[in-house]
Amino acid sequence: MKEITILSGKGGTGKTSITAAFASLAKNAIFCDNDVDAADLHLILKPKIKEENTFNSGWQLEIDTEKCNSCNLCMEKCRFDAIHLTNNHYIINHLKCEGCRLCERICAVEAISSTEKRNNFWFVSDTRFGQLVHAKMGPGEENSGKLVTRIRKKAKEIAKENNLDLIINDGPPGIGCAAIASVTGTGKVILVIEPSQSGLHDAGRLSELVSTFNIPMFAIINKFDINIALSEKIEVFLQKNEIELLGKIPYDADFIQAMIAEKTIDEFVPDSETTKIIKDCFNKIL
Ligand code: SF4
Ligand code: SF4
Repeated sequence: MKEITILSGKGGTGKTSITAAFASLAKNAIFCDNDVDAADLHLILKPKIKEENTFNSGWQLEIDTEKCNSCNLCMEKCRFDAIHLTNNHYIINHLKCEGCRLCERICAVEAISSTEKRNNFWFVSDTRFGQLVHAKMGPGEENSGKLVTRIRKKAKEIAKENNLDLIINDGPPGIGCAAIASVTGTGKVILVIEPSQSGLHDAGRLSELVSTFNIPMFAIINKFDINIALSEKIEVFLQKNEIELLGKIPYDADFIQAMIAEKTIDEFVPDSETTKIIKDCFNKIL
């Protein structure tokens, strides 16, 4: 079974449109939207949810000021400096709290209690191209890396059970923990790069990240004709770093029209030059 993860340095590079097009071209595949913070593959794939699950993203701790005897032990022992004394009350700073629950265990008067944070959900859905595993994070929720790991595990399980040949991951933008979780253990990575200074910079950061995992890397330059000089710089960068360039896609307003029509680019304009290039990129990566 092969697994491909498609990454970009930031949103708006066309990564999801390219992933969706790959999904429509793939045979016997499953898709996984690893961009759990701002999932949008569903906008094109229009999934019909058949399984919904909650994902525990950690623990929310509270101190009962009535029970607290101000012994100070929790504040002293919290390694994350998440307990503060404010107006003679011990309170937990939820932005700093890591949910380790040490304070709950050591409080002699049981003034600290915890509840599971269950604001994150993940789904298994049917789409017109195959199954999609995707997720929705609650506002302000963290642990996107763990959620990505969870949904990738599920996608692998389904692929095994159904003898599927390919998993396509739509990765998150950037190099944060969700991107790391998206790359770990994948077979190949495709970087979608746009010709801008930030695109070039992002390509550098991403390739550094991926090379630490020793995973074969490929690239697609999207909208290459909006800045030919920078596209050439990116090509030089790719050659230097031995990253195979799968193809260069011109700026194409049909991407937006296809998204509005909730279609992949190859469904929307099957005979266009862009569709031809994307098909070619897909055949090269298999
Ligand atoms: S350990 Fe318990 S009793 Fe002591 S300060 Fe913290 S909450 Fe209060
Ligand atoms: S759960 Fe852990 S990190 Fe959070 S306040 Fe308690 S000791 Fe500190």
